[in-house]
Amino acid sequence: MKLHEHQAKEIFAKYGIPVPEGKAAFTLEQAKEIAEELGEFPLVVKAQVHCGGRGKAGGVKIVKNMDELEEAVSSLLGKTLKTFQCPDGKPVTRVLIEKATNIDKEYYAAITLDRSKSKPVLMASAAGGMEIEEIVKENPDAIIIETIDPELGLMPFQARKMAFKLGLPVKEAAKIFLKMWEIYKDLDASLVEINPLVVTKEGKVVALDAKMDIDDNALFRHPDLAELEDEEQLPPQEREAKKYNLNYVKLNGNIGCMVNGAGLAMTTMDIVKLAGGEPANFLDVGGGANVEQIANAFRILMGDPDVKVVFINIFGGILRVDRLAKGIIEASKMVEIRVPIVARLEGTNAEEGRKLLLESGLNIIPVKDMWEGAQKAVELAKEAEQSCN
Ligand code: GDP
Ligand code: MN
Repeated sequence: MKLHEHQAKEIFAKYGIPVPEGKAAFTLEQAKEIAEELGEFPLVVKAQVHCGGRGKAGGVKIVKNMDELEEAVSSLLGKTLKTFQCPDGKPVTRVLIEKATNIDKEYYAAITLDRSKSKPVLMASAAGGMEIEEIVKENPDAIIIETIDPELGLMPFQARKMAFKLGLPVKEAAKIFLKMWEIYKDLDASLVEINPLVVTKEGKVVALDAKMDIDDNALFRHPDLAELEDEEQLPPQEREAKKYNLNYVKLNGNIGCMVNGAGLAMTTMDIVKLAGGEPANFLDVGGGANVEQIANAFRILMGDPDVKVVFINIFGGILRVDRLAKGIIEASKMVEIRVPIVARLEGTNAEEGRKLLLESGLNIIPVKDMWEGAQKAVELAKEAEQSCN
């Protein structure tokens, strides 16, 4: 689960990481009140969206007086902000109003999990700010990495070493790195990122931006954080999927995947890619799914305009194949099934399931194994894209 910048900054402030003074506003009136409270200009108006790259997209505006503040807030609130990270855009329902900072230099700092090391890492760079992604692509050495022993935590010497290597004021910056680790650990975060972490003209170290992801599987331990979720920022399909407790993640491709079991779902992503295609989603309908859940899962897949073909890859164990078939037939009564369906069905009651589907009148293409299925799905997706162009 992603937090908004203003939420993450409130957490930072609680832990003692310096952030600019400010507050989130949901309306123009609130924004003006906050500006009055802050009592001085210039202020910064920042669109609160779950998406980076706001600076370049006009989502961060420095304002010198009330008129400019009104103009900036009105130009953002209620609009959709598109950035290079989110080409479809995200709705702006709140803005952060905060005191402007005199930047001397911008740095990058983050704690996240390095899956290949199975350990958290502190990563930081003196090349912070808006260009960090490009800089790192061209010059990976621009990022310095300290691996964290999860038993010991980030050690003070590591934090000081990092600050020293970057040329940051060692005491202040090391303290911030250590606080970032505390937050990461205490809140079961999967990402705590500050970009830019700035040194001000006055020589202070301040977190000018804040990004935090909380591990969904740990949210039961943090009901206060779970409450902060802004579902409006989720892709519409993911919002729907949440309602039915489906493990669904929207991806960038055009092959809708309906799979049971996380392992088989991952394998399906891999095999689709191997066959030269791109999955439109990850979906694990799980073992315990009932007909209604399957019907809704299928309806959500169909509701994604990117989906040009559906690849059903099921090995029926606890989830019997006939139940899955009934779910899909149920879904076909709710929504128009506008794309071909490639189906690889094996396991418990596979024969009954196949029969139900083939007799359903739907455009079902049965395949004998998942490699054939992946190839067929990729071929149909390509044909569909070509006929669109
Ligand atoms: P992002 O583009 O979505 O990551 O948004 P950021 O919060 O990182 O802001 C983008 C950029 O706006 C920063 O890298 C800064 O250069 C600039 N910026 C943000 N706040 C301030 C501020 O208080 N003063 C000044 N001078 N620039 C700011
Ligand atoms: Mn940023």
